[in-house]
Amino acid sequence: MNYIDVGESAGRSLSKDFDVTVIGGGPAGASTALQCARMGMRVLLLEKGPPNRHKPCGGVLPLVADEVITDIIDDEIPEEVYESPRELGLYYVPPSGREGGGRVRNYRVVNINRDRFDSWLLTKAIMSGVKVQFGAQFQHLEEEENRVFYSVGPEMRQVRTRILVGADGVRSQVRKAILPSMDAPVLLVGQQYISISERGDIEDSFYGFLRGDLSPSYAYVIPKNDFLIVGLGVRPQQSPSVSEALTLFRQILADEFGVSSADPVAKEVWSIPYGYFAPGKGSTILVGDAAGFCNPLSGEGIRLAIEAGEIAASAIQVTEGGEDLLERYARDVKSIADFVASVQSFVDSLDDDGREQFVREELNRRY
Ligand SMILES: Cc1cc2nc3c(=O)[nH]c(=O)nc-3n(C[C@H](O)[C@H](O)[C@H](O)COP(=O)(O)OP(=O)(O)OC[C@H]3O[C@@H](n4cnc5c(N)ncnc54)[C@H](O)[C@@H]3O)c2cc1C
Repeated sequence: MNYIDVGESAGRSLSKDFDVTVIGGGPAGASTALQCARMGMRVLLLEKGPPNRHKPCGGVLPLVADEVITDIIDDEIPEEVYESPRELGLYYVPPSGREGGGRVRNYRVVNINRDRFDSWLLTKAIMSGVKVQFGAQFQHLEEEENRVFYSVGPEMRQVRTRILVGADGVRSQVRKAILPSMDAPVLLVGQQYISISERGDIEDSFYGFLRGDLSPSYAYVIPKNDFLIVGLGVRPQQSPSVSEALTLFRQILADEFGVSSADPVAKEVWSIPYGYFAPGKGSTILVGDAAGFCNPLSGEGIRLAIEAGEIAASAIQVTEGGEDLLERYARDVKSIADFVASVQSFVDSLDDDGREQFVREELNRRY
């Protein structure tokens, strides 16, 4: 393979080519890179996909996330990122079925186009001075010298960095490079896209179905433009499998809500973190899904990724990337990790009686 050193090719002979190299251009990577660049650091972001890459996602944010993101990014989410309907209610269905379910009072979520959202965030990072390379896949790390090896097509390249940030998602290669024996359990999440004209009685709400025969955590329905997105999460190697559970879910939706059982227009499967926390090692820190930050009950991870990015950037700034970086970052990000762990314990403790009670309480809640 042909090795090209980014520093040399740029005509520099610095001890390090970049202050911070971020792997992954999703919300966690873009947020970290953006904040670091705003603090005056030299930042490289490597993204293996093309610009506007697709990420399987429900594209739903609680209203508070919309506000948190606007605060952190210091800009409003642009109109073209929102989907139709722009806001959705929240509707729970317990194990006993539709009769026991209903819409939660005074609760709204926002409906976004995930790919356009990520593109907006990454563009903000580029405009703040982050150097972004698309089609660049992290391969390995030489820890002693903080030399990052990555491929662009058949070509292997390397760059030297003071800090490496792994924002490369739930199947993080950076995490595997620094913590090779770590177990990082996931929930497999499958989604089907059904024509909106076949929605039956599904109203403009995000539907959360809680029932153990479908999923240990959640199954959902989201109206989005021309489609109903129908999805659920299962543990790998579990019975029923994702596709078996989705078949059962489609049957329940047909029986109870009159949703057509016609073949989906499209299907996709990806994963979310399901019970791990990994802040990093040495001068490499992990953010977003790579670190394990996703709500195991709702699947919400975009806001947590952006918050973790902000915390990472400020830990880098405060410690100037010194030896206490990891300790500082792990301490500051603990509130997110604790929140995720507490929801995980709650999910793990639930049986169908507990799910029934949870839905009852949510529907009776007064704000
Ligand atoms: C089906 C599904 C539905 C979901 N729905 C919602 C929802 O409605 N709302 C919500 O808030 N959250 C949702 N989530 C969770 C949310 O998508 C994640 O928590 C969020 O994407 C985490 O952001 P991230 O930046 O950490 O990782 P990602 O968004 O996964 O970004 C990682 C990036 O790293 C890149 N990458 C990976 N490996 C490499 C490599 N070796 N080299 C270079 N680049 C690399 C990838 O191409 C990708 O762009 C859902 C998840 C799934 C699977």
